[in-house]
Amino acid sequence: MNVVASARRVRVWVTGTVQGVGFRPYVYRLAGELSLGGFVLNDAHGVLIEIEGSTAAVDRFMARLPCEAPPLAVLEGVVVEERVATGDVAFAIRESVGGTVPDAPVTPDTATCDDCLRELFDPADRRFRYPFINCTNCGPRFTIVRGVPYDRPSTTMASFTMCAACRTEYEDPADRRFHAQPNACPRCGPSLRLIGDDTASPDPLAAAVAALRAGAIVAIKGIGGYHVACLAGDERAVASLRARKHREDKPFALMAPSLATAGVLVWLDPAARDLLTGPAHPIVLAPRLRDAPVAQAVAPGAPELGVMLPYSPLHHVLVADVGETLVMTSANVSDEPIAFVDDDARERLRGIADLFLVHDRPIQTRTDDSVVRAAAAPRGPRTTILRRSGGYVPASIPLPGAGTPRPLLACGAELKNTFCLARGTRAWVSHHIGDLENYETLRSFTEGIAHFEALFAVEPEVVAHDLHPEYLSTKYALDIDRVELVGVQHHHAHLAACLAEHGEPGPALGAIFDGTGYGLDGTVWGGELLLGDVRSFRRVGALLPVALPGGERAIRQPWRMACSWLSCALDGGEPDLPASLAGRVDPHAWAQVHRLAVTGTAAPATTSMGRLFDAVASLAGIRAEINYEGQAAIELEAACDPHERGSYPIAIERRARPGPPLVIERTAGPEPPLVIERTAGPEPPLVIDPRETIRAVAGDVRAGLRPGVIARRFHRTIAGATVDACATLAAAHATDVVVLSGGVFQSRLLLESVSSALSATGLRVLVPERLPVNDGGIAYGQAAVAAAQLT
Ligand SMILES: [Zn+2]
Ligand SMILES: [Zn+2]
Repeated sequence: MNVVASARRVRVWVTGTVQGVGFRPYVYRLAGELSLGGFVLNDAHGVLIEIEGSTAAVDRFMARLPCEAPPLAVLEGVVVEERVATGDVAFAIRESVGGTVPDAPVTPDTATCDDCLRELFDPADRRFRYPFINCTNCGPRFTIVRGVPYDRPSTTMASFTMCAACRTEYEDPADRRFHAQPNACPRCGPSLRLIGDDTASPDPLAAAVAALRAGAIVAIKGIGGYHVACLAGDERAVASLRARKHREDKPFALMAPSLATAGVLVWLDPAARDLLTGPAHPIVLAPRLRDAPVAQAVAPGAPELGVMLPYSPLHHVLVADVGETLVMTSANVSDEPIAFVDDDARERLRGIADLFLVHDRPIQTRTDDSVVRAAAAPRGPRTTILRRSGGYVPASIPLPGAGTPRPLLACGAELKNTFCLARGTRAWVSHHIGDLENYETLRSFTEGIAHFEALFAVEPEVVAHDLHPEYLSTKYALDIDRVELVGVQHHHAHLAACLAEHGEPGPALGAIFDGTGYGLDGTVWGGELLLGDVRSFRRVGALLPVALPGGERAIRQPWRMACSWLSCALDGGEPDLPASLAGRVDPHAWAQVHRLAVTGTAAPATTSMGRLFDAVASLAGIRAEINYEGQAAIELEAACDPHERGSYPIAIERRARPGPPLVIERTAGPEPPLVIERTAGPEPPLVIDPRETIRAVAGDVRAGLRPGVIARRFHRTIAGATVDACATLAAAHATDVVVLSGGVFQSRLLLESVSSALSATGLRVLVPERLPVNDGGIAYGQAAVAAAQLT
């Protein structure tokens, strides 16, 4: 027997993501193994532990504590203090000490863990094939939480009463299901139901599997909303799903039964494999393999396929039984948000799904599947997030420095909207809300804000917003009473989001390329070279402005941008309708759009890089019109001939032109944001002028060159010009940090080529990694700017 001559006692504070992730039972088990006395409890800052025992046991405890922590725990700080021994020999989990401000332990929904998977497929287990199995290490969290504190009664599991066996697990600190709020089993928990089935099968799952295998389209209620599924290899089923969803070309996501099956669909490097199998289980975009066994209609014209692995127990049993890859697309009609409320889903999906596989656990917050990509980068692969939602939200992201002195709300952009709440050094970026253009999304925006305010105890005193007066998110902000308003320029928000995420003080040079953002001069910006930090910025360069003929319509009809850029390249002369667009564009409409472009009637000026890509995609004959956002650029990238080594001429010059105001000042009160004009500094701004590029592209089109050659030459041209412009400006302004952000950098080819070339010149390249490069990252950027301006 081990006799403790003189006991040692220490107090340990652990901070980070340590609540609601099974950390206390873990500490309890570890202390038990090492025969230590003491206690563990949750307090307002994290977890507080006291242990007492032999010096050797205490040392072993401290060594093992961080290494063996539960999978969802993230330890940020461990502070140890010696205490006087009290003779404790037993170890206990004590009641939480309530702080005044709860740092609500609401964690993201997490994919089914290995232990639960083993039980799920073990015929001897009482949860064998139970589609709602979960434990402290996995299962739904964010999507079922109704309020705080995070406890069973404040989740959508409130109406299910645990049976004796589940209750015992729930109350036993040594059990994996200790305080697992959604704990359930077939006797006491949620159950499946199949609606629309005439076979009257007693087994809803088996009937759904049989229907899928026979080519049916089945709506499936998942964790954050409904999916619509069909066999991915079934041409007829996929085509009919497209027709019923009114979705012409936008790629469908796939759910593969296993990593091995996924590897037959797409090229998976180790980083992509890690993303597929990690706790978030997002949709991973990866290069499509030539012989990928999926229907042609799954992702027409796209260079990548979006693949995910089953992440809920329902998915696991379903996909295992079907035995094939499924199309698993969010259940909505065209651009509406994903359906998640049962009656509404039935109503909206009536014409789409043949059957509905549903369950009786309500979804509190709708979350789409997240979309990510592993991209090559000079210092190892980096994750690019295209949509940050299920599996990631609501994990907080730190604000740089001292954070915000006052609680704040940032309302985000109009498209791909997210909002962000912040208090102190922590920011909570919302799930993907979507495009704020219909009542449904606007409602989930306003309800989402109220929900987050309650969950994270943030009562905003400051509200940050975009400068675009027509964004619904801006209007929402301007309508809030008794708060201080901070207007943040769109592209500055992109730059600031990236700097803040990386804790980079700046100043840095930002190449911010996207489709549309409201500029300080009221024109449409989108090809911006900004110099700044989180607090403020100057516009030190931009793409040459051209007309956006017909405004919004030019976004849906890229041929309008082809006409505009050609007119500009011909100094206002009327371009002939290129052969590549003959038969696709009415010559009268072409002439009309030319007149809009040269007169500026209904044609605001834009420096949008996204629209330049549209113009070239259209000139090359790839897309005259688009069916989803970004389609022209995506297909232009897909068309690129990898063997082509040529490029086009492009001018980069400093030009003194009457510049727009360059610095925005924070404003207070309900009035529209105040823009204060400043000069650009000692040097005139740099202009990237692609008129020669456009003339050369038109020449290649006339000469009958293949679109793949033109596409590749154009990408190489823009990448080269971006690198030159950034290197020049970084040197001129004595910074070695370059930020690449904005929706145009969703292009893998452009991002990888620009970042590796810039790194090769010795510059430090920063790219958003925890948040999307597109407008999904705007809210966090706005929060960072507002916080910096308040301090
Ligand atoms: Zn589990
Ligand atoms: Zn039970």
